[in-house]
Amino acid sequence: MAAMSTLHIPTPESATALLSRYFAEEGLSGESLLRAVDLIQQRTEVFLDDALAEVRETADFESACTAGCGYCCHTLVSVSPPEAFYVAQHLETAFEPEARETLKARVLAYAKRTKGMDGGQRYVLREACPFLRDEDWYCGLHTARPLVCRAMHSGSLPSCKKAFETRDATVPTNTMAVFFENTKAYMSAYVSALRPRGVAIYPVELSTALAVIWSEPDAMERWLGGEDLFDSARIPVKEVIKRV
Ligand code: SF4
Ligand code: SF4
Repeated sequence: MAAMSTLHIPTPESATALLSRYFAEEGLSGESLLRAVDLIQQRTEVFLDDALAEVRETADFESACTAGCGYCCHTLVSVSPPEAFYVAQHLETAFEPEARETLKARVLAYAKRTKGMDGGQRYVLREACPFLRDEDWYCGLHTARPLVCRAMHSGSLPSCKKAFETRDATVPTNTMAVFFENTKAYMSAYVSALRPRGVAIYPVELSTALAVIWSEPDAMERWLGGEDLFDSARIPVKEVIKRV
């Protein structure tokens, strides 16, 4: 008999309830928002550890992903604006000024170069995410990387390599749908918990969202106050969670 799953998979409803309760208790401010992102990222790590353990047991699935493997990091990175603010804060605190300015320039150049491209176009053109380090293909964000990146696990490195080398994004990655359930739930929960509080929120492309945050004075306060700041970074729903 198959083992009963003990995995707790968040749903959009359960994640929204959690986040709504959090904001009801903590209030909505820049500080509470960044703390919420941090908590969700921690929960996500626990979820993915549990999910990987379960699929190892039940589906004989072993993740082929390792640090320094970045074939999958050549596509559009979709985030919720709270995650973009979180990344912006991470850059301010985790990098020395010179390295930070170099990275910011790289992000801005990427945002300009890839403006209007969907994930498939970026993949075919091998447009590396600006956070993917040239020297070793490590993720320059790592501890602050977005939910979509955390969810990406392939069971076949040769498939990822083949897709990259042939520029054919239709090569199956041999992943498991369950890894993305958590990401979908929290991406949806950010919208459902914040929109009723008057915040203009929708999925955005990470680099363009960062360009907005860096160019608009008091971006966090204004956005939390209801200003629609991220229209230039908005991405269609169909692009939100997929490899390319
Ligand atoms: S998903 Fe594929 S390309 Fe990305 S880290 Fe895993 S094995 Fe490497
Ligand atoms: S943020 Fe990091 S993990 Fe995500 S696509 Fe960029 S380099 Fe890859």
